[in-house]
Amino acid sequence: MLTWIRTGRTAAASVLACAVLLVVQQAWYFGGWGGAEVTTLVTDASYVPQAVVFAVLAARVALSKRQEARTRRAWQVITVAFICQLAAHCSWFVQSQILHTTGYPSTADYCFLLFSPFMFAGLLMLPGQYRRRRDRQKLVLDALIVGAGGFIAIWYLLLGPILNAPGISPWERSFTAALPIGDLLLVLAVSTAIQRRHQPEAPAPVRLLTASIALTVIADVSYSWIQLHGGFTGGSWPDLLWLAGCFLLVLAADQQYRQLRYPAQRRGNRNAVVLLPYAASVAAYLLLAEQSSHLPLDPYGGMILGAAVLTLLVMARQMHALRDNREMAVTDGLTGLANRTLITERLKQLAGQPVRPGRYTVIMLIDLDRFKPINDTFGHEAGDAVLIAAADAMRAVIRGGDLAGRLGGDEFTVLLQGLPSRDTAGVVATRLLEALRAPVVFGDHVLLVEASIGVVVREDPYLSGETLLQQADTALYAAKRAGRGRFEYYSDVLDSKAREAELRRAVANDEMVVHFQPAVALATGELQAVEALVRWNHPDRGLLGPGAFIDLAEETGAVVPLGAWVLRAACREASRWRADAPGADALQLSVNLSPKQVAQADLVQTVETVLADTGFPPDRLTLEITESVILQPDPLIVGRLQALRDLGIQLAVDDFGTGYSALSYLRSLPVTTLKIDRSFVTGIADDAQARSVCEAVVHLGRAFKMTVVAEGIETAAQAAALIDMGCAAGQGFYFYRPLPLPEATSLVRHQFSTVG
Ligand code: C2E
Ligand code: MG
Ligand code: MG
Repeated sequence: MLTWIRTGRTAAASVLACAVLLVVQQAWYFGGWGGAEVTTLVTDASYVPQAVVFAVLAARVALSKRQEARTRRAWQVITVAFICQLAAHCSWFVQSQILHTTGYPSTADYCFLLFSPFMFAGLLMLPGQYRRRRDRQKLVLDALIVGAGGFIAIWYLLLGPILNAPGISPWERSFTAALPIGDLLLVLAVSTAIQRRHQPEAPAPVRLLTASIALTVIADVSYSWIQLHGGFTGGSWPDLLWLAGCFLLVLAADQQYRQLRYPAQRRGNRNAVVLLPYAASVAAYLLLAEQSSHLPLDPYGGMILGAAVLTLLVMARQMHALRDNREMAVTDGLTGLANRTLITERLKQLAGQPVRPGRYTVIMLIDLDRFKPINDTFGHEAGDAVLIAAADAMRAVIRGGDLAGRLGGDEFTVLLQGLPSRDTAGVVATRLLEALRAPVVFGDHVLLVEASIGVVVREDPYLSGETLLQQADTALYAAKRAGRGRFEYYSDVLDSKAREAELRRAVANDEMVVHFQPAVALATGELQAVEALVRWNHPDRGLLGPGAFIDLAEETGAVVPLGAWVLRAACREASRWRADAPGADALQLSVNLSPKQVAQADLVQTVETVLADTGFPPDRLTLEITESVILQPDPLIVGRLQALRDLGIQLAVDDFGTGYSALSYLRSLPVTTLKIDRSFVTGIADDAQARSVCEAVVHLGRAFKMTVVAEGIETAAQAAALIDMGCAAGQGFYFYRPLPLPEATSLVRHQFSTVG
């Protein structure tokens, strides 16, 4: 059955069937068709299929390897609870509809009673939000407060009357008392389960279980009450609640299977769940007041009133303490400004909020200039005094609804909302700079500080708080570079400048690496050449392909030092391979040249120096240029390319076919190789046009006596088609992906040491 229901569709159909059954039963109850007996039959019969479905769905969760281990264990226990219910419903059906016996307590009652402890344990075992020990203690206290409130209610409604009920045996008395006590356990477990996971974030299964148990408890209490005051018969109104509760159990088990993992929780305590213990206390007092209304005012009235007022005052006191706690958690201890937690929270709230014209939100990042020397020279106390003075200055400038905070060290931030224009931000920044310039008196010293400010005006509603802070940081650095003591607005231009600076730093810091993609003779698969392809081993973003940075490098000119670095690194490694494996002498090395590099007057000199320094032979080097370089050949560039050729270096046109290479140019340029662009190779099997381009390039190569290399070969069919056309060489994932240095080295060794 489990395998059968494992398919989502069967489960969904079962849930739907239960829903239909529930609707039919409830309609029948209100319609009363066929008299009381038929209604009771319909009701009693509705339980069994529902119980079968929830037990099977729960077992499916309990056995599912997809669930987290803790969730699975909790659901194993919950399944046992569900099976107790199933047994109870089956035996109730037999007892009331087949045997027509009315004994109390019956087997069904015993099974119902067993449900509570298992459900209690299962609910407590559900994985909760991570909490510290103190949080857990608080949680237990809150649950106990709710439990005590529940106890008072149950005592008033059931336990008290049960103890005093005349004419029932001691066994019946204790059994009738056990049922509400079981319910009390469930109340405890439910209140713990929902307080551990704050609403509305409590996951759907927990919410469904909670709702189901709430209905069950109300029905149970009513059942016991009816049992106590005359005797319960099947098909009465508590059945409506029980059945609805059963359906919620079906939904809970189904939802749990779909939900693999509880979503990550945010810590937050400003929601209704926090009020649960208070609500329980108030309810208990209301009951007490109601029940004691006939007692004499002296002494009970005044004492009960006093106790209620005392409790309310203690609650109010606790609310204050809570608020203090919260304030402490979001305040910077030294300056009293908001701390990073609150700032991050506020920025998070911003994300997704619409940007309204005429109401600008502005984020400023403020950094004190020359703070470190003060700290180093006059000590931390002087540093603290400066930070406190800076905080006071900020508080004096900003308005009530704005937020000033300290991110750490001497870095502050200000969040302004509802500014009428972009320029107002500049006015506020100027005022801040002036206020921060005020000298700070520390003992006998007068300390002078200044600040730089980066200003971001929020214009894109979808930017995350983190990105806004990063942009403010970019603007701040621009302000610092421009001479400190000033502010700068963030703009995209600044961003590309910052990224360019980052890129140049990366080249200098050796964050770049070269990978090598082999090119092979298509007919034999023999290794002929390797192409050097640059990657950026970014400290935060991991290994980045050229797509992530080469355009920017090209735009800003950073590609010139980058390209020179790649050439040097590639020639150095290839020289080592030649030294290691004598057969590698024939291996050709390709390096990409960007148009910016080709435009450099000292290109030839740079290449010569690299070749001389690394000892790599010029006739084994191929430089790949793009079609745009040869589009309108400038005589200076043609001269430079010719000079490279004169050194013996091969020249290839990369991505051939994608630009507008005119044949006439091709003929007059000193090019030796054409690399058919990947886009044509990709379409070679099923796109006639792509196929024709490939054929044309192969012919062109033959006519001009150039080598033709096909790029981006991904399948055997593509390779075969190229061989058919007479294309001799190729490169692509079908043969090799670009390889990191160690793998490229071992490949070269493996291929050539035997040859040599
Ligand atoms: P490219 O020079 O045409 O290099 C070939 C690109 O195609 C490489 O991407 C390679 O990984 C990819 N490739 C090779 N075979 C296949 C295949 O079978 N299927 C697919 N889907 N892709 C394949 P990569 O490394 O991302 O480089 C992209 C481009 O960045 C290069 O195109 C080149 O124009 C540029 N580039 C890379 N390194 C440098 C460099 O050091 N300097 C300059 N200026 N540009 C470089
Ligand atoms: Mg290339
Ligand atoms: Mg290419």
